[in-house]
Amino acid sequence: MSETAGDAKPEVKQASKEVKESENVAEKYSAMTVSKNSEINMGELSSVFSSVPTHKPVKKQIQFVEEKQEFSRFPTKTGRRSLSRSISQSSTDSYSSAASYTDSSDDESSPRDKTQVNSKGSSDFCVKNIKQTEFGRREIEIAEQDMSALISLRKRAQSEKPLAGAKIVGCTHITAQTAVLIETLVALGAQCRWTACNIYSTQNEVAAALAERGVAVFAWKGESEDDFWWCIDRCVNTEGWQPNMILDDGGDLTHWVYKKYPNVFKKIRGIVEESVTGVHRLYQLSKAGKLCVPAMNVNDSVTKQKFDNLYCCRESILDGLKRTTDVMFGGKQVVVCGYGEVGKGCSAALKALGAVVYVTEIDPICGLQACMDGFRVVKLNEVIRLVDVIITCTGNKNVVTRDQLDRMKNGCIVCNMGHSNTEIDVASLRTPELTWERVRSQVDHVIWPDGKRVILLAEGRLLNLSCSTVPTFVLSITATTQALALIELYNAPEGRYKQDVYLLPKKMDEYVASLHLATFDAHLTELTDEQAKYLGLNKNGPFKPNYYRY
Ligand code: NAD
Repeated sequence: MSETAGDAKPEVKQASKEVKESENVAEKYSAMTVSKNSEINMGELSSVFSSVPTHKPVKKQIQFVEEKQEFSRFPTKTGRRSLSRSISQSSTDSYSSAASYTDSSDDESSPRDKTQVNSKGSSDFCVKNIKQTEFGRREIEIAEQDMSALISLRKRAQSEKPLAGAKIVGCTHITAQTAVLIETLVALGAQCRWTACNIYSTQNEVAAALAERGVAVFAWKGESEDDFWWCIDRCVNTEGWQPNMILDDGGDLTHWVYKKYPNVFKKIRGIVEESVTGVHRLYQLSKAGKLCVPAMNVNDSVTKQKFDNLYCCRESILDGLKRTTDVMFGGKQVVVCGYGEVGKGCSAALKALGAVVYVTEIDPICGLQACMDGFRVVKLNEVIRLVDVIITCTGNKNVVTRDQLDRMKNGCIVCNMGHSNTEIDVASLRTPELTWERVRSQVDHVIWPDGKRVILLAEGRLLNLSCSTVPTFVLSITATTQALALIELYNAPEGRYKQDVYLLPKKMDEYVASLHLATFDAHLTELTDEQAKYLGLNKNGPFKPNYYRY
């Protein structure tokens, strides 16, 4: 769920080739489709790209100047900024949906200063408190209930062990949902070492439960920056164990390995990356000719995009606003800036609760869509004095300016659901004439000299990541996609992938969706032979070309 890169999405080089490839291998691959009685054959997974031309190994490898990393021996609560590269935005965006429920504030000592041992005598982990394992196990079991597609993948594939021999180093949010993914990878044969991609998001009890089951976890809620890199380092730099796969969320782990241990890439079979930011970094590496292993961009899978951007935001916008402000939406005037996937989700949810929703857009197509959906499309300045709530969802910067903040009415709620904290010009509010009053966690009243208050949520960072929960079902989609991408990259014969960034083929995207359909007891219609011929489709898919817009 890290959403931080604001830059335009890089071109997806593989698109047209993939359509062809998917068609070529459709017959082989069809065994994977979940139709009435079919069972997944993990061996088939690797066949999906089998028509990718073999490339001679490219001998280029990114070279970083080898710097000696000194970690502070006595980490402080605030951490140190002595590191060669500042911590990424995705690592610091608070993600309280994943926050630990355990109050461990009474224990101020750093986990790095403690020696802990799990019940099997292993101390190859660093978590807040290994004694929280039972609580963590319950959390994982609760998450499993809404991740039945991933569990079904686990059950179907665990006899074949498609990840036997895989040594996966992972850097993701460490939550109950990620634990379900990690334990799935282990069930499929992988050894895992794991660290957190965000210094706030670790559920301490979940980390403890994973450590108890033998996963080498290095993470706790409230790490300092120094801790953050130390944990990553402990995952990668360990005697007698070298990773051969990377699962990253945000690109920090990948960056660290490139920078500190470039030789590790000789053994790495592939990188799977789920975030906008991380994918963007991979494309940059690829463009510079410095990507030295294949990488899978799961962020841009259709299922991931739709669920993360549209459906997740449709649900979590209300949750975030309610928890922070207790606002009632009926009759409220709301403006949603940007009518892309996120904006569409937010607008639909607010409209359903009886809010009067205005939309701002720069793009005539999205503007027209908003009109068709029954929203008034306006310029922000036209409604700035009227509205009760302003929500930015553009991925752009300075969408709400200081001048507009000056003109808002008393009590207006301002928040952001889009890219990081650039959409609202929050920096412009830090001037001496304005008073900031922290009224709740993540809620600030910014007070003008005449007494007017604007209610700013999460200091302009992503509202749902900061103030609400993200549905487990959404995370199941992402986790299933990640697991399939790892299986595919790990099992692919040498030469199938070159040093490039790949999208999951449509067929696998469809497979992820079909696994999740079972949750709803949904029954798809099967094409007749005649219909398949008429449409020019394989009966088992893929059902849409890559350029299809869902
Ligand atoms: P999108 O590109 O589909 O939509 C953004 C829309 O904003 C576009 O239609 C664009 O024309 C419009 N826009 C750009 N500048 C504008 C401006 N100045 N005024 C009005 N409209 C403007 O993107 P999306 O998938 O909707 O994602 C939007 C942002 O939300 C991205 O930054 C993305 O990373 C982030 N995101 C957040 C979450 C979350 O959970 N909060 C989830 C996914 C994505």
